[in-house]
Amino acid sequence: MQSITILGATGSIGASTLDVIGRHPDRYRVHALTAQQRVPELAALCARFRPEVAVVGSPESAAALSVLLREADVRTEVAYGEAALCEVASAEECDAVMAAIVGAAGLAPTLAAARAGKKVLLANKEALVMSGQIFMDAVRDSGATLLPIDSEHNAIFQSLPQSYSRVPAHHGVARILLTASGGPFLRRAVETLDAVTPEEAVAHPNWVMGRKISVDSATMMNKGLEVIEAHWLFGAGAEQIEVVIHPQSVIHSMVSYRDGSVLAQLGNPDMRTPIAHALAYPERIDSGVEPVDLTRIGQLDFLKPDFKRFPCLQLAYSALSAGGSAPAILNAANEVAVQAFLDRRIGFRMIDQLIAGVLERMPGAALDDIGSLLDEDRRARETAQSLIP
Ligand code: NAD
Ligand code: MG
Repeated sequence: MQSITILGATGSIGASTLDVIGRHPDRYRVHALTAQQRVPELAALCARFRPEVAVVGSPESAAALSVLLREADVRTEVAYGEAALCEVASAEECDAVMAAIVGAAGLAPTLAAARAGKKVLLANKEALVMSGQIFMDAVRDSGATLLPIDSEHNAIFQSLPQSYSRVPAHHGVARILLTASGGPFLRRAVETLDAVTPEEAVAHPNWVMGRKISVDSATMMNKGLEVIEAHWLFGAGAEQIEVVIHPQSVIHSMVSYRDGSVLAQLGNPDMRTPIAHALAYPERIDSGVEPVDLTRIGQLDFLKPDFKRFPCLQLAYSALSAGGSAPAILNAANEVAVQAFLDRRIGFRMIDQLIAGVLERMPGAALDDIGSLLDEDRRARETAQSLIP
């Protein structure tokens, strides 16, 4: 029996995780569930999964949750705030942590889980993008097991040798082929992109996801963050990570070997597959996802990304090459820009302009402690805010 903490239980990844866990009550129980707001939803999850602890964002939410739990006769302990998130991510009672908070807010608890040597199921790519070296060092030093949930990275992980040691050349790996759907605006006339609404941007053609990652998919910043994520997870240089647009989202990514072999992982676009893979690794369990019906899909297409249409992808490659705190600055500026777009304060094309503006003003520095990194994150957010008209 494995005991799991789910950081971000009320989100899209949280729901898919609980769906898989709910299919295997003999294998998994829930140590803790966390959510920023959405108190009634979290209360219902506590009634169903009976965690030992539930964590919310504020004392007000904690009080409201306590009332609901008492009414329902659920004996889950209630806590709030970042320290409590770190506590449930590193608690002795917990074996594995699903890191599914969105954005930089997930960094502290995800890092706490890594430092505590947990099995870390990483969905929160922003945490790794921000803190790459520090995070990977923590995993190595504590002996934590890091398993990628992002569908592309999970596919790459599945296509690499079991003994893979983060040195591509040692295993005959030539390139990582990171597939991208291209999002909702792959074929929309570029001149019309500024008129895009938040509703259009979050309507992803293949995946149902949270709003932030959906906008990231529309700008392809999501793929840019995933290039940086792949760099840290698999030890590959920027030049070894190639983005390939594959609009059907059936192949979730590929590994190209020196001998000409290309290995891929295929499946329906449903996050329960990578979640089940990582939860049970190295075993395989039922995820509730049907195997992909290739004859019904009929055709798989591939094309090169257009960096003029998707400047965010170029910005991410540049931040990876710049190194140091540049990826953290990119991530912070992107979080501010996406929120401003969702709040209708800036147009869609302003997202990449804002991030480029912040990176021009803050080129990034070599930093090796989390405190200085969080300072850079805060300064990048202030700079981004100051550039919003
Ligand atoms: P979501 O918006 O649906 O859910 C986010 C969760 O984080 C919620 O439970 C919310 O309560 C919590 N949260 C938000 N702000 C918080 C804060 N400040 N402090 C603490 N908790 C907070 O997001 P999602 O789509 O589930 O994505 C979660 C993460 O997984 C993101 O990093 C995303 O990039 C990654 N991811 C998601 C998918 C997907 O299919 N949804 C795929 C790959 C990777
Ligand atoms: Mg992905």
